[in-house]
Amino acid sequence: MKEYWSRRIRDAVPYVPGEQPRGRTFIKLNTNECPYAPSPRVAQAIGAVEPGDLRLYPDSECRALRETIAGAFGLTADNIFVGNGSDEVLAFAFQAFFDPDRELVFPQISYSFYPVYARYFGLKARMVPMGEDFSVDVAGLLHSQGGVVLANPNAPTGMGLPLEDIRAILEANRDVVVLVDEAYVDFGGRSAAGLIPEYPNLLVVHTLSKSRGLAGLRVGWAMGHPDLIAGLRCVRDSINSYTLDRLAQAGAQAAIEDVDYFRETCRRVMATRERTARGLEALGCQVLPSQANFLFVRCPGREGKDVLDQLRQRGILVRWWSDPAISQWLRISIGTDGEMDALLCAMGEILGQ
Ligand SMILES: *Cc1c(COP(=O)(O)O)cnc(C)c1O
Repeated sequence: MKEYWSRRIRDAVPYVPGEQPRGRTFIKLNTNECPYAPSPRVAQAIGAVEPGDLRLYPDSECRALRETIAGAFGLTADNIFVGNGSDEVLAFAFQAFFDPDRELVFPQISYSFYPVYARYFGLKARMVPMGEDFSVDVAGLLHSQGGVVLANPNAPTGMGLPLEDIRAILEANRDVVVLVDEAYVDFGGRSAAGLIPEYPNLLVVHTLSKSRGLAGLRVGWAMGHPDLIAGLRCVRDSINSYTLDRLAQAGAQAAIEDVDYFRETCRRVMATRERTARGLEALGCQVLPSQANFLFVRCPGREGKDVLDQLRQRGILVRWWSDPAISQWLRISIGTDGEMDALLCAMGEILGQ
């Protein structure tokens, strides 16, 4: 019974995360986690935290971690906001920069958390239809009254926009915030972070969850003009000043410092992605060009839900949405080469080849 619930949560339609199975072991290709462990330096850094220091609150400003991130992007610490996963950073940004009476825009097919936030925070949002080929309609994102939210590369399609398009969106939205969610940029996309000095309305959001193999640590960050960063701090300090614990701050810093390990992880995932895409195409599947750590795949003549269920019976989890615009499609995260061989084998059986 919801009789004690506030009106806000009575009307909420929460995000549904991908399944984290317990008991039976699945090949887990449903939540875009990294198949490889994080840099060994992460465990060292976490182990080096003095247990006695856990008595004390962490640095709410995450100064050391922000310095490290700033250094990696040629920015300064006052361009950086760190949060408990980029989902938290996104939720703070929706509260910091968008108003109920100014219409926000985002692509119709995108990260399914955006409409959840928009509804929860009482915002008017317009979804811009996709092109025939699932491309983002850049013209539809120009001249927004209230703000623009965009995942680049996009999810769940994996398709990326070139920086010229991001620049065009920024130019035509000078009075509102343009939020570019770059959760997948390290797998072949181009980051807009270099445009931050030119555009005070640009906020770029990154996460350690995908390319650094740290979905379990919960660290994400935003990069932008110091005034935007101050807006995010205002939201945080109105809710919970200590969003990142000491262990997460130490581990995140080590992960970002280990650039060689990070690059090698991304290279391996991208190589496996291309091999898997060719394998699926050989089975007759349609595969969108991906700049992410997943593939968006359709098996002509088969319902997405049917293939999803048959993969599950064979011990493989992938992601499917009931939205009719994409219900024929599956999003398949890139695992290890061995896991993707198992996927290709199962798909061959399911498709009768
Ligand atoms: C995975 C994902 C996130 C969330 O990342 P966390 O840092 O784990 O909260 C944000 N945006 C997109 C588009 C994602 O796919």
